[in-house]
Amino acid sequence: MSFKQQCVGLSDGRLMPLLGYGTCQNPEIPASKILESTKIAIDIGFRHIDSAYVYKNEKEVGEAIRSKITDGVVKREDIFLTTKLWNTFHRPELVRVGLERSLKSFQLDYVDLYLIHYPVSIKAMEKCKDAGLAKSIGVSNFNRRQLEMILNKPGLKHRPVCNQVECHPYLNQSKLLDFCKSQDIVLVAYAALGSQRPTNWVDKNAPFLLNDPVLCGMAKKHNRSPAQIALRYQVQRGVVALAHTYEQKEMKENIQVFEFQLSSEDMEVLDGLNRNFRYFPVNIAAEHPNYPYSDEY
Ligand code: NAP
Repeated sequence: MSFKQQCVGLSDGRLMPLLGYGTCQNPEIPASKILESTKIAIDIGFRHIDSAYVYKNEKEVGEAIRSKITDGVVKREDIFLTTKLWNTFHRPELVRVGLERSLKSFQLDYVDLYLIHYPVSIKAMEKCKDAGLAKSIGVSNFNRRQLEMILNKPGLKHRPVCNQVECHPYLNQSKLLDFCKSQDIVLVAYAALGSQRPTNWVDKNAPFLLNDPVLCGMAKKHNRSPAQIALRYQVQRGVVALAHTYEQKEMKENIQVFEFQLSSEDMEVLDGLNRNFRYFPVNIAAEHPNYPYSDEY
């Protein structure tokens, strides 16, 4: 399968790889670990890297990318790098400052995609695209109503190319996905493997997606792992899937997502696992007027 076939087209004409390496790290693990794991991810073939100001490791992610460019493994244009505007930079005059700070940490001239991490206005983001500091702009954690508010904004210059949201078989986002597709907005799935670990964000009693008996049964049938099935489910429905791991073995497993297919019956069975369960409900922000998860989708 060619690289192009492993990508999705964005509404601004650019391509985004369907599988991304997520760099959100466990805060107890030193950032140096993400430097090493990001290098391994690039060596293995990941070309889409998802980072954010709030992950506090843009310096290490940038260093990993630059070292692989120096080694001749990739060119800058081979890598699709995303970062995100954190909530402390929402004021319009701070948006570009936030991006420039990220670029300084990466020691790179531009990012491929700049996302608003949590719902807020897009105006100042458009200017970052116009200045060439971000090749594409998009949003994250927006519900349908919030997307519509942006799309209906008078004088909108650049439509968001994607909406990065939590998405996995327990929260398959089918209605939001249909809406995004109708608007030429790519849905990017985070926690596509169910996140797998309790953190400050994820409840310790959350169900362990990769132990789901239906997912495990399907994995067995295809001679694949439950993680591969969960990732294949996304790319097969045109959703970009992010997966984080420090483990080389798991990275290799995850990148094999393009080597097999699920039948339409398999896809229906996986659709049936939906239970609208969020690993990242961000309850702390529930009273905020822009809290995205009070609407149905
Ligand atoms: P995830 O990718 O769903 O799950 C990560 C966990 O899955 C890790 O513990 C990892 O194991 C395990 N894993 C990875 N591959 C595996 C495999 N083949 N078999 C078994 N286990 C496997 O969760 P996430 O890190 O929460 O989300 C992914 C990325 O999405 C983040 O890194 C970040 O870039 C992005 N994200 C964005 C937002 C947002 O608000 N926009 C929110 C959350 C996440 P090990 O621990 O053993 O390595």
